[in-house]
Amino acid sequence: MAQPDNKQSKALERSNVLKERIEKYLEARSSIPTGRERSQAIKEQKEIILNIFGAGEEDWNNWEWQVKNRISDPETLARVLNIDSQAHGKIEEIGEKYRWSISPYYLSLIDPGEKWDPIKLQAVPCAMELVGDGTPDPMGEEFTSPVPAITRRYPDRLIIKVTNQCGMYCRHCQRRRSIGEVDRPTPVEEMEKAIAYVRDNPEIRDVLLTGGDAFMLSNERIDWILKELRSIEHLELIRLGSRTLVTLPQRVDKELAEILARYHPIFVNTQFNHPREVTEESARACAILADAGVPLGNQMVLLRGINDDPDVVKRLNHELLRIRVSPYYIFHAKGVQGTTHFRTRVEKGMEIMESLRGFTSGLAIPTFIINAPYGYGKTPVLPEYVVSWADDHILLRTWEGRVMKYPNKLDPWNDEEIF
Ligand SMILES: *Cc1c(COP(=O)(O)O)cnc(C)c1O
Repeated sequence: MAQPDNKQSKALERSNVLKERIEKYLEARSSIPTGRERSQAIKEQKEIILNIFGAGEEDWNNWEWQVKNRISDPETLARVLNIDSQAHGKIEEIGEKYRWSISPYYLSLIDPGEKWDPIKLQAVPCAMELVGDGTPDPMGEEFTSPVPAITRRYPDRLIIKVTNQCGMYCRHCQRRRSIGEVDRPTPVEEMEKAIAYVRDNPEIRDVLLTGGDAFMLSNERIDWILKELRSIEHLELIRLGSRTLVTLPQRVDKELAEILARYHPIFVNTQFNHPREVTEESARACAILADAGVPLGNQMVLLRGINDDPDVVKRLNHELLRIRVSPYYIFHAKGVQGTTHFRTRVEKGMEIMESLRGFTSGLAIPTFIINAPYGYGKTPVLPEYVVSWADDHILLRTWEGRVMKYPNKLDPWNDEEIF
C-alpha cells in the first residue's frame, strides 16, 4: 500500500499538471477585458453622448429616453465614433436595406479606437451585409406558424412573437425579415388568438414570449399577457426572451420584476455575446430579476470576429455566472441574408465546447446547437468522447485526451434474489 506521503506527492504532481492546463487561458484572459473592467472608458463615451443630446444622468437611466434617442443616422454616429466619409455613405446605403438603430447605452460600450470592436460589429452596419449569399428565412418560420404570431416546432412548447420591436437592431439578427421600419407590438386581437391556441392545445406546457424583444412591451401589456396565460391550467412554464439586459438594461426595474414574480414559474433568457457586454448596468438588471426569483439563461450566438474564440467564450461564461446568468445555448449562426459574414464553420463551435469541458465548471458549459433547416429543430452538436464501441467495453476519451477502457455490461438479474 502507498504511504500517505506518497499519495500526497502524487496529488501535488497532479496539481502541477492541472496548473499547466490553465496557464494558456490565464495569459489570454488578461487581454479580454470585461465591461466592468472597462467602466472608466465607457463612462467617458457616455459623457460624449449625453453632451450631444444635451441630456443628463436621469435621462440616461430612463429606458424610454434610451429608446426615443436610439441612434440611427450616420451624422450622430460619426460624432461618437471615428467614421470617415466613405463609411458614412455606406452606412446610409445599408440603412436603406436593413434597419439599424443603437441605444445610447449600447453605443457607449464601443471603443472608438478599435476597428474590430465586438460591440461595434454587432451594432453598426457594415458593407459585408450587402454581399454574400443567404436566404431571408432559412428556418422556415413561415411554415411552422399554425396561427399568426405563433411558431410551433416541438410537441410540448411553442413561441409567441409579442412585438417586432427591439432595444437595438443587431447586425446578426436572424429575424431580419420581421423587423420592418415601424415598431409594432402584436395587436391585442392577434394575441388573443395566440393565447386561445395555447388554451385549446392541452399538450402545450411551456410558452416562450419573444419578438423582437418581449421587454419592449409596456409593463401593462406584459402583465396582461402573463395574466391571460396563467389562467390556462395546463401551462406550466412561461419564458420571456429579451436582449434588453444587454442592450438596454435600464428597461429592467423593480416594477417589471414585481410583475414577473406574480406569475412564477417565469424564466428569462437573454443574449450576451461578449464579456465586454457584462457591465455594471447589465449586472444590476440581472440582479433585479434574479432577486425576484427569475432564473436567467444565456443564448449566445457564435459570431465570427466577435466570439469565435474559446478564451472569449470562457471569459464570457465566467462573467455570466458571476451575474447569476446560466450559459444555456451557443447557436451556430444560420445563413440569414445580410448576416452570412458572421457565420463560422461548425468545427469552431465544437472546438469551443472541447475547450470548456473539464477545463472549467460544468455550470459554465452550454449546449452547442445547430438549428436544422426548414424548422426541424434545435440539434445538439458535441465533440465525440466515445472513441470506439466493443461488446463489453467502450474506449473513452477524457477532457485531457487520455484514452481509457471503460466496462459496459449488464449483470444478470435473478427473480429469486429479490426480497
Ligand atoms: C428554441 C425554440 C423553443 C425552445 O426550445 P428549448 O430547447 O426548449 O429552449 C421552442 N419553440 C421554438 C419554435 C423554438 O425555436
